Amino acid sequence: MEKIATSLRTMKQKIPFEADSLKAWFLEEARDLPWRKNPSPYAVWISEIMLQQTQVSVVEGYFQRWMQKFPTVEHLAVSSLDEVMKMWEGLGYYSRARNIHAGARFIVENYQGIMPSTKEELAQIKGLGPYTIGAILSFAFHQKVPAVDGNVIRVLTRYFNIADDVQKSATLKKIWALAEGILPENKPWLIVEGLIELGAVVCKKEAQCWACPLQQTCAAFAAGTQAELPKKGKKVEIASLLRDVFVISHEGDLLVKKGEDGKVMAGLYEFPYTERKKGARFPFPLKARKVSKLPEVQHSFTRYRVTLYPTVWQTEERVKIPGYEWLSWEEIERSPFSAGHRRILASLRTQNAYIAH
Ligand code: SF4
Repeated sequence: MEKIATSLRTMKQKIPFEADSLKAWFLEEARDLPWRKNPSPYAVWISEIMLQQTQVSVVEGYFQRWMQKFPTVEHLAVSSLDEVMKMWEGLGYYSRARNIHAGARFIVENYQGIMPSTKEELAQIKGLGPYTIGAILSFAFHQKVPAVDGNVIRVLTRYFNIADDVQKSATLKKIWALAEGILPENKPWLIVEGLIELGAVVCKKEAQCWACPLQQTCAAFAAGTQAELPKKGKKVEIASLLRDVFVISHEGDLLVKKGEDGKVMAGLYEFPYTERKKGARFPFPLKARKVSKLPEVQHSFTRYRVTLYPTVWQTEERVKIPGYEWLSWEEIERSPFSAGHRRILASLRTQNAYIAH
C-alpha cells in the first residue's frame, strides 16, 4: 500500500492534473441528459444502474418513463416486482431491476424512504457497488468522493500513461487512489462527472485527442500510446448457445415459464425451449401440431450469444406441466419477457392468426 502511495505521489508530481481545464470543458460541453436536470440521490441511483451495460441513447427513454411511473423511492417500493420488470423489459441484465426493487423496499424499511448519504449505509443496498456509491455521493450529495467506471479507467490510464493490466485489482486500486487524489476542494463532483463524460465522448476507445481539454498534459498523447491503453489481460470468452423455442398455443392461450429466483432470467417469462440437438423430438408430454416457423432471433446475455429457433405449435390438450403456465394473450402482453423471447412475441403479433384459435 505504501508502495502504491509513493508511486502515485511521483506520478502526480511528474504529471499534474489539469482539473480546471476539465471542469471548464465539462461545464461547456456536458450532454443535456435527463438525469442531470435534477440529480437527486434517487435519480442518480436509477440512472447509474440503468447505464451499466446499456447505452445512454437507450437509457434516456427508459429513465423518463421510469421516473413518471415511479417518481420516488416509495412509489417503487409499493410496486410489484412484475410491474418493475415490465418497465425494465428490453434493458437486459434483469438482476439490476430486481436489486433496485429490493433496494427501494430496504430504504423505505430502514431509512423512511430517504436515501442514506454515507458509503457504509449505501453499501447495504442491494446492487450498489463502489462506482454507483461514488456516483451517488458525488453527483447527488456533492461529497469529495471519486467514482471510477470504464470511462474513468480509460481516461486515467491514458492521462498518466499507466500500462498495467486493468483487470488486476492492484491496478484498479491504483486508479481509484489516483481518481481520489486529483479531486479539488472546489466542486469536486464536476471533475468526477467530467472524467466520465470525457471518457464517453472524447477519450473513447479510439481517442479523439484533438478535441480533448487535457491534451497538453496527457502522458499517453505525448508518448503516442493512447491506442494501446488501457491494457487488458485475458478476454472474457463468449459462448454460443443454440435453442429450439416452442410457442405452444391452446385456444389462444400460450404455454410459458417464469424464470426462477436466483437464475439469470428470474422474474422474466420465456416460452419453453430446449438446447438444440440433432434429431431431437418435441419435448413435452402433449400432442401438438407444428403450424409455422418464426424468424430466428439472436441476442446476447452475460457471456452468451444465443440463437433462438422458434416454431409455433397448436394443441387440443391443456396439459399441466410442472413449472409452466398457460397465459392468455392479454396476460402475455402485461408480463415481462426476456429480450430474446420478447422478439419472438413481436414476430407472433404479426402472425396473430396462428394463435388466436
Ligand atoms: S489527450 Fe487523448 S488520450 Fe489523452 S486524455 Fe485526451 S483523449 Fe484521452
